[in-house]
Amino acid sequence: MSNSDLFQPLGGNEMPRFAGPGTMMRLPAALDAVGLDACFIGIPLDVGTSNRPGTRFGPKQIRAESVMLRPYHMWTRAAPFESLRIADIGDVPINTFDLKDAVRRIEAFYDNVLTHQVIPITLGGDHTLTLPVLRSIAKKHGPVGLVHIDAHADINDRMFGESIAHGTPFRRALEEGLIDPNHTFQIGLRGTGYTAEDFDWARKKGFEVTQAEELWHKSATPLIDSIRPKMGNFPVYLTFDIDSLDPAYAPGTGTPEIGGLTSIQAIELIRGCRGMNLVGCDLVEVSPPYDLQGNTALLAANLIFEMLCVLPGVSFRMDD
Ligand code: MN
Ligand code: MN
Repeated sequence: MSNSDLFQPLGGNEMPRFAGPGTMMRLPAALDAVGLDACFIGIPLDVGTSNRPGTRFGPKQIRAESVMLRPYHMWTRAAPFESLRIADIGDVPINTFDLKDAVRRIEAFYDNVLTHQVIPITLGGDHTLTLPVLRSIAKKHGPVGLVHIDAHADINDRMFGESIAHGTPFRRALEEGLIDPNHTFQIGLRGTGYTAEDFDWARKKGFEVTQAEELWHKSATPLIDSIRPKMGNFPVYLTFDIDSLDPAYAPGTGTPEIGGLTSIQAIELIRGCRGMNLVGCDLVEVSPPYDLQGNTALLAANLIFEMLCVLPGVSFRMDD
């Protein structure tokens, strides 16, 4: 803590873990992204979901379960708060009565955030939100590479006739030139489809798709180690749908699929993003009403800390 300009999470010896501010990691709340290197943003959206609702409560519950997070990573020795100025800038005021207007509001919010040199880390919210975030990100960085970890491809053309929904964002993102298909990697896809070729649309467009079965009983590290050099210095967005995990680990989500990733594989995938030029991350689809023990939100909070620890510019104590 050499640099007193940097914000620190409120520690458990200063204020009991079950008390104090309701921000992510009990960091200072900021009104905007001025002077920040990274910021947490909540998007309490669930009007884009197709099955169980409840992700509107995701950001609040992830923040609640983040109280156990301490500032140092005890395996990688990442020390994000020693080199980055990080705060929680609160929630996007979405319109819960109008999904299209909610999407417009999210894009406008991120346009404002991204007038600053800051990496947004988003707490979702259903996966619809990644489309407006990518629209804003692409205005700043151009088409980005994508690491998309999910049980679902989210490349539907229409859902109930609608072009905007939580199962369409990556189809729209490709059509709109927000992502580069040759730098897009989908990991963890599985389950039943409408046709046997559902995931092949993405493959034909140039996405590299790794289905969950390819990772069963294995470490996910070799896969992400193979992706990292393909990204090079390309700007990369990491989008993590919590339903990529098996429902045994993450039951609190709207569209669960069996045979998913373990929490250890999820950690391996995020740790393997260290060295990528990450320009933004999100963790989506946590639905607290279906998360009866709070494990899903606890896992999500920890995975978001893992994301923080692989951002460009994070210092590592072993580098001292
Ligand atoms: Mn998804
Ligand atoms: Mn999903």
